[in-house]
Amino acid sequence: MMTQEEYIESLRNQKKEVYFMGERVENVVDHPAMRPHINAASVTYKLGTEEEYEELGSAISHLTGKKINRWTHIPQNQEDLVKKAMMLRVAGQITGTCFQRCVGMDGLITLYSTTWEMDRDLGTNYHERFKRFLIDTQNNDYMTDGAMTDPKGDRSKRPSEQQDPDQYVRVVEEREDGIVVRGAKMHQTGAVNSHQILVMPGAAMTPNDADYAISFAVPADEEGIVYVFGRQVNDSRKWEGKIDQGNAKYGVVGGEALIIFEDVFVPWERVFMYKETKYTGKLVDRFASYHRQNYGACKAGNLDVLIGATASLTDMHGISRASHVKEKLSEMAHLVETMYSGALACSFNCSKSGCGTAFVDPVLANTSKLNTARYYPEVTKISQDLAGGFVATLPSEKELDNPRIAPYIHKYYRTGENVDPIQRIKMGRLIENMTGSTPIIECMHGAGSPQAQKVVIQRSINWGEKIKFASEIVKDTEEPSEVKR
Ligand SMILES: Cc1cc2nc3c(=O)[nH]c(=O)nc-3n(C[C@H](O)[C@H](O)[C@H](O)COP(=O)(O)OP(=O)(O)OC[C@H]3O[C@@H](n4cnc5c(N)ncnc54)[C@H](O)[C@@H]3O)c2cc1C
Repeated sequence: MMTQEEYIESLRNQKKEVYFMGERVENVVDHPAMRPHINAASVTYKLGTEEEYEELGSAISHLTGKKINRWTHIPQNQEDLVKKAMMLRVAGQITGTCFQRCVGMDGLITLYSTTWEMDRDLGTNYHERFKRFLIDTQNNDYMTDGAMTDPKGDRSKRPSEQQDPDQYVRVVEEREDGIVVRGAKMHQTGAVNSHQILVMPGAAMTPNDADYAISFAVPADEEGIVYVFGRQVNDSRKWEGKIDQGNAKYGVVGGEALIIFEDVFVPWERVFMYKETKYTGKLVDRFASYHRQNYGACKAGNLDVLIGATASLTDMHGISRASHVKEKLSEMAHLVETMYSGALACSFNCSKSGCGTAFVDPVLANTSKLNTARYYPEVTKISQDLAGGFVATLPSEKELDNPRIAPYIHKYYRTGENVDPIQRIKMGRLIENMTGSTPIIECMHGAGSPQAQKVVIQRSINWGEKIKFASEIVKDTEEPSEVKR
């Protein structure tokens, strides 16, 4: 396993083509826009290797028997799924933001069982290839970017019906030694600081979409791969100072990028699904359940930080003893624990697939993500209510170096004798960082927009059974006699 520092250093060896703000970025590791996200991802390595956390952050590989980082582990039982959720909450508490490595983790878990099922049904050898890739990933402790979301063009049309055929990643050439792929994946969390990219189809495909029904892995700095790092609200504060960023160490959300595949060659050894349209829906649904499990846990961890920042401001503002304040803080905690209970519940209520992988309960996992999309903004609203308007109107940290203004900042932002005004400003900025638009949009659309969870719930619930429960209860209830009717 890699330590936190080794992970960061390992990224220096890569030769990726990365662009940000119209310019090529040669050094991703030290770039102010990217470094906080790298620090956040490095926490997954901290959890795997430091004694305090390794009970959650590491696991024993069922393939090699070696100790590995849990972010590369395939859950074998209920305990593994529960530990996955617990690990995510702890990582969320340390970073206060997205630590990026779970999309790749869920891609590994999903492809393990999907390739096994394809081989069982079709006599292919995807699973053996995938196992070799997985062992390599575990042995080297690679960070994997889970690349599922295509640009998608017109949402009402299938991949093969799009005006531009590259709106979904597809195979454009088949060779004896491999395939050539073209297209793009959007919103890729942690892409510029991953070691490899694991591409999966982003939708269920019909036979006409065969060229799009592909899954493969490539080194992140493979020739022909271009990264465009996305902008975030207030990101220029990253190169202006520290305090105003709110979370200078770990940033905000995952540092997403657009990945463009300019006719990239993939050897057969790294192709894990090829034109298997029948298995795409299963793969997407399964991935979504594992990934939606996470949201109830990692965002709970993030919101633990937000509750802490809010509670500390209520102390500094002298309002913490008011009953409405206590009530609102407990409402925040109640919503957060509700999110987390879903992540745990779907882990406890798991099942086993044919190849031995433990699978979360899909309805409970989807419920947990839907709760996160609904409750995260609720919790941020209460935080903003309690924190007060100064969060939106604070002067720049540069005033602290301005001899004419600095004494006034200290004077007017001090709320009490024992209150450090700078600490108050830092807490305010942290709340601003966590309650702004980017994290809220992430909770809405990350792991799929809310409607996607509702669809799973609608089609999974046994409505007939529920009607039967109700009918059973009323069946013996005495009916009015004919006369009374
Ligand atoms: C911060 C962040 C990080 C992310 N990280 C990753 C990542 O690491 N890897 C990855 O692969 N993806 C990632 N995603 C992508 C995420 O999974 C998608 O954003 C999500 O699936 C929604 O897709 P979309 O953004 O294209 O929105 P759209 O699909 O355009 O959805 C917008 C709205 O349109 C509706 N809609 C969509 N299609 C239809 C239709 N056919 N008919 C009717 N209504 C429709 C939806 O219900 C929704 O209300 C990330 C997203 C965010 C915001």
